[in-house]
Amino acid sequence: MGVLDGKSLAGMIREDVARQVSQLRRTTGRVPGLTVLLVGEDPASQIYVRTKNKVAEKLGIRSEMIVLPESATQSQVLDRLRQLNRDDDVDAILVQIPLPAHLKTWDILDEIDPAKDVDRFHPLNLGRVMTGQADLFPCTPAGVMRLLDHHGVDPAGMDVVVVGRSFIVGKPLAAMMTNRHATVTVCHTRTRELAARTRAADLVVAAVGRPGIIRADMIRSGAVLVDVGTNYLDDRGEVERLCPPDQLRRFERRGNAIAGDIDWKAWGKSAWYTPVPGGIGPMTVAMLMENTLELFLARGRRLAWPGMS
Ligand code: NAP
Repeated sequence: MGVLDGKSLAGMIREDVARQVSQLRRTTGRVPGLTVLLVGEDPASQIYVRTKNKVAEKLGIRSEMIVLPESATQSQVLDRLRQLNRDDDVDAILVQIPLPAHLKTWDILDEIDPAKDVDRFHPLNLGRVMTGQADLFPCTPAGVMRLLDHHGVDPAGMDVVVVGRSFIVGKPLAAMMTNRHATVTVCHTRTRELAARTRAADLVVAAVGRPGIIRADMIRSGAVLVDVGTNYLDDRGEVERLCPPDQLRRFERRGNAIAGDIDWKAWGKSAWYTPVPGGIGPMTVAMLMENTLELFLARGRRLAWPGMS
């Protein structure tokens, strides 16, 4: 059993981004700029957005957070995005998902300039992921693939089961795995015999949002386990039932703990597993930073900024 240690790889990727940003500051006098647009006051989204901005600043990336009220109309959001598309100081735009229910998510994602679309959720960029023509990938699936590659886990020829079909994780990851020659089954709430499917898989990805839904008896010995699920628990009984012992210590300190979608008791049966926390979560943030840098470099080359090779 080996640990796919996302925290440690994410640290290396962040260091590399910071080094490149500081070199760019010296050679071009510019640094990449990331703008995160948040609509509404969802507390979890506020935490995610703040984390992204804080990490960006630490790496020397210029980072801005725009918060529109919950009551913002579709046309107010679209107008703000058009301004950001025109703003020369903005290299990367991220719209925090989920948006309030009255907003049309796809029309909003469609408005982001595809060349500034750091999450890669614009339909053009998602289409390129499907066809295998993408240069950059949505951050969470990109983090999964990078972590597997780093540890020499090659999905080619594997039977892969992806549980969850969101456009943020499951669908693009399934396409990426298929392009890397895995045989992929995507499961969701209407899937019959989920346990039989996961039990037959060489590699299971869980991106569901239900703590412990993939139990140890649903995994075959020697499988690779990738857990995208990030579930905050604040009930002591649930923490004791669903989290490894170190999370109980966190619960005692902070009053909450994090559980994945895969029961941690399955880790011992696996060939490789991603821990929660410390697996895909930090990789997602690191890939966001790398995508921001890549968008900056691509713009610099396109617009022939002085000092850019
Ligand atoms: P989502 O949009 O809610 O999608 C969840 C998916 O799981 C849906 O496709 C749903 O099926 C499926 N599902 C729900 N209950 C199921 C069940 N009982 N059996 C089989 N499938 C079931 O969620 P998401 O945005 O993809 O996120 C999934 C999880 O990953 C969440 O815990 C989220 O916090 C986490 N996440 C973590 C990161 C990170 O950086 N670590 C990034 C993104 C997301 P239907 O389509 O049929 O409804």
